[in-house]
Amino acid sequence: MIIVLKPDATKEQIDHIVEKLKGFGLQIHMSKGEERTIIGVIGDERVLANQPLEVFPGVEKVMPILQPFKLVSREFKKENTVIEFDNGVKIGGKRIHVMAGPCAVEEKELLIQIAEDVKAAGATFIRGGAFKPRTSPYAFQGLGPEGLKFLSEAKKKTGLLVITEVMDPRDIELILQYTDIIQIGARNMQNFRLLTDVGGYEKPVLLKRGLSATIKELLMSAEYIMSKGNTKVMLCERGIRTFETYTRNTLDLSAVPVIKKLSHLPVIVDPSHGVGKWDLVAPMAKAAIAAGADGLIIEVHPNPEEAFSDGEQSLKPKVFKELMKELRLVAQAVGREL
Ligand code: PEP
Ligand code: MN
Repeated sequence: MIIVLKPDATKEQIDHIVEKLKGFGLQIHMSKGEERTIIGVIGDERVLANQPLEVFPGVEKVMPILQPFKLVSREFKKENTVIEFDNGVKIGGKRIHVMAGPCAVEEKELLIQIAEDVKAAGATFIRGGAFKPRTSPYAFQGLGPEGLKFLSEAKKKTGLLVITEVMDPRDIELILQYTDIIQIGARNMQNFRLLTDVGGYEKPVLLKRGLSATIKELLMSAEYIMSKGNTKVMLCERGIRTFETYTRNTLDLSAVPVIKKLSHLPVIVDPSHGVGKWDLVAPMAKAAIAAGADGLIIEVHPNPEEAFSDGEQSLKPKVFKELMKELRLVAQAVGREL
């Protein structure tokens, strides 16, 4: 439930309510807005059946949250969440941000070259997996810790922020030292232990939609992270499995406005995994911005034929640069910046 406090509620009154709720074993999430404070109450609310919270001094009204996801919901927080990074980049505001780079981190010089190219084209993040979730145990699994170091060097050289995937709770502490966003991949969207552990840090998280996950399941997974205290969550539409086989996945762009309606969290679209073919990436990237996405994550590789993974969906830097120009126009047309 949500407890809306009166604009003039005193600290003593607020503390009193919080103490009472904690006494019932409930979790409290305070949201201090410009005009008033809202208390989000999480837990089994049946314990409050005989507690008329409305009569507590300082309380204006008490409202149930009807959705199964609470902290994630727009009912809980009306304004869009904006996630700010050290260098001033903000995701979730007017400006759209593009994360670009290879599927997997390969050689150091190659990664730095890609970082320089995508930066020149206007990207703000370098992407690249050091730990790769591969269908086959015999496929390239990523460079591991060495790959993380390469990402850091690319950051140092270009000033780009870093996004990279974590697959195992045991790697979180290590990856945190090298990344600005922790990516949780589609295959781990319901790895609840991983979600819970990542929720214990303040590092922003990009949570990708599972291969066959509903929007509600995606939001419930985000709730796992937020319920542990990490509020910096971005949701990523990256295509879902359908009966269609022409594309690798079916990019569900309707998820963008649906999530925007249900949640205050920023939405990022991954057209690369969404379609799986490089020549379909541009139209879907444009459509994603038109649909209201706050950012894009796009695979770029100068030599797609030789990429260790996902070459068929990777854009060459020159194509990426052209796309960025077109995306700027689409962004402008829908009242955004890029
Ligand atoms: C990736 O971003 O390279 C990736 C593995 O994505 P997903 O988890 O969406 O398949
Ligand atoms: Mn990939």
